Amino acid sequence: MKFIDEYQDSKLVRGLACKIAQRSTKTIRVMEFCGGHTHAILRHGIRQLVPKTVEMRSGPGCPVCVTATVDLDKAIALAHLPDVIITTFGDMIRVPGSYSSLQKVKAEGADVRIVYSTTDAVEIASANRGKSVIFIGIGFETTAPTIAASILRAQREEIENFHVLSLNKLTPPVMKALLESGETKLDGIVCPGHVSVIIGSHPYEFIPRDYRVACVISGFEPLDILLCIDKLVEQIEKGEPKVEIAYLRGVKPEGNRKARQLMEGVFEVGEANWRGIGIVPKSGLKIRRKYERFDADKAFSVSLKPPKEPKGCRCGDIIRGAAMPLECTLFGKSCTPESPVGPCMVSSEGACAAYYQYGTPEDLHTL
Ligand code: SF4
Repeated sequence: MKFIDEYQDSKLVRGLACKIAQRSTKTIRVMEFCGGHTHAILRHGIRQLVPKTVEMRSGPGCPVCVTATVDLDKAIALAHLPDVIITTFGDMIRVPGSYSSLQKVKAEGADVRIVYSTTDAVEIASANRGKSVIFIGIGFETTAPTIAASILRAQREEIENFHVLSLNKLTPPVMKALLESGETKLDGIVCPGHVSVIIGSHPYEFIPRDYRVACVISGFEPLDILLCIDKLVEQIEKGEPKVEIAYLRGVKPEGNRKARQLMEGVFEVGEANWRGIGIVPKSGLKIRRKYERFDADKAFSVSLKPPKEPKGCRCGDIIRGAAMPLECTLFGKSCTPESPVGPCMVSSEGACAAYYQYGTPEDLHTL
C-alpha cells in the first residue's frame, strides 16, 4: 500500500475484523501502551470492531499523564523564579499540580510560553540572553533525541541561558515494572509505533521470554491496529508469544541508531518518578555531567511543599491499566476537558480525554 487512506479502507478493515473474530477463541486482555493508540482505537471504533473476547486497556504511554505531580510542582515553582521563562509543550500548561498549574501562574504574571518544538525553546533563549529559559522536557524515546539536539545546539552556539528540566522517560523499563507488579494481568501488548522507530523491536524481547506476553508493534491507522491485534491474537491462540512488527513502513528491528546515539551522548539512564507507579529504576533520562550547565535541576533550587493528588482522580489506576476511564466517578461530571481534574483528561494522548471525545454507550458495558 502506498497511500495513508488505504490503511483506512472500510472493506479491508471489516475483512480483517472478521478474520480476528474467527481466530479468537480465548478471552484475552491486551494493553495499548501508547496514548496515541488509545485515541486512534477510540476514534476509529476499533473496540467495537474486535470480538468481545479481546479486552483492550490503556497503558502509561501518555507523557503528560505520567509526569508525577511533584515534578509538575517543580516546574510551577521554577516559573515563580525571577527572570525565568518556562517553555513547554501545550498540554502541560493545563495540568493541575498540587496547588496551582502553569496556566494559573502564567495568568498571575509568570512568563510561561507554549512551544511546538525544542528548537523554539532554544530560539527564545537566544533572543532573551538576560533571562534563563527552562524547557520542560517530557516524553519518551521519541522526543529525547530532539531534546538532546537542542542541548548540543545551545552548547555549539553558546546559549548558556538555555536549560532543560529532564523528565524524559523510557518505555521498556516501565513495561517491566507493570508486568513485574502483576496487578493487571496481560496477554499481549500493542507496542508503541513512534517509540519503536527509535529503539527498534529488540528491547521488547524480554517480555515474551520472561513474562510470556505477546508483543506487536503497531502503526496508527485502523488497518495497522487491526493487523497488530490479529498478530497478537494469533500468537496468544498458539501459545507462542514473541515480538513482531506490524508497522514495517515505520519500524526496523534495529531502530534508528543515529537518534539513539544522539540521545545516549547527552543523557544517561537514571530512575524516574511515574504518576500512579512511583519510582522506577533505570526508566528516566538524566543530563550527563558533561552538559550539566544546561540541567535545570543543577542550575536552580526550589523548595516544594508535599505533593497532593487530585481528590477522587483515578489517573494513576488508568495509567497502570488497573481501571478504565469510565470507572472514575468524576468522569464527565466534575472532570471534563474544559475543566480537567487530572492529566488523563487534559492531554491529547490521555485515556480519559479519548473516552470523553469518542467513547460510546457500548464502552460502558465493556467495563
Ligand atoms: Fe482523573 Fe478526570 Fe480521568 Fe477521573 S476522569 S481519572 S478525575 S482525569
